Amino acid sequence: MSHKGSCHCGAVAYQAEFETSSLIECNCSICTTRGHLLVPVPAPKFQLLTDPTVLSGYSYGKKVITHYFCPTCGIGVYSSSGDPTRSIMLNARTLEQFWELSTHWERKTYNGKDRHPEFNPKHQNQ
Ligand SMILES: [Zn+2]
Repeated sequence: MSHKGSCHCGAVAYQAEFETSSLIECNCSICTTRGHLLVPVPAPKFQLLTDPTVLSGYSYGKKVITHYFCPTCGIGVYSSSGDPTRSIMLNARTLEQFWELSTHWERKTYNGKDRHPEFNPKHQNQ
């Protein structure tokens, strides 16, 4: 199913194709601090509809994953390793129909804190 979404100000908009009935709530340091609810989307099924150079990225620790956000409104939109064979993690709260859809979705917790200790340290951006 195809979904559309955007950051708060609209400078970053996307289209994403995915089938899901669940939201992932991860307890690693970045997910905890920013409160995203995640949906995995196969990288080729995620398409930006706006200028990709608008995005800003944040990486920390081993810098394997970049967390992309809008520099105007500050909203995080998705995270990606840049590997086209892997899924990007979409901030489900940026979906146009977040409330309509998520009402019917199960919320699953993911123990990223222990399963990926590399995502855990805060303040290690150097
Ligand atoms: Zn924005």
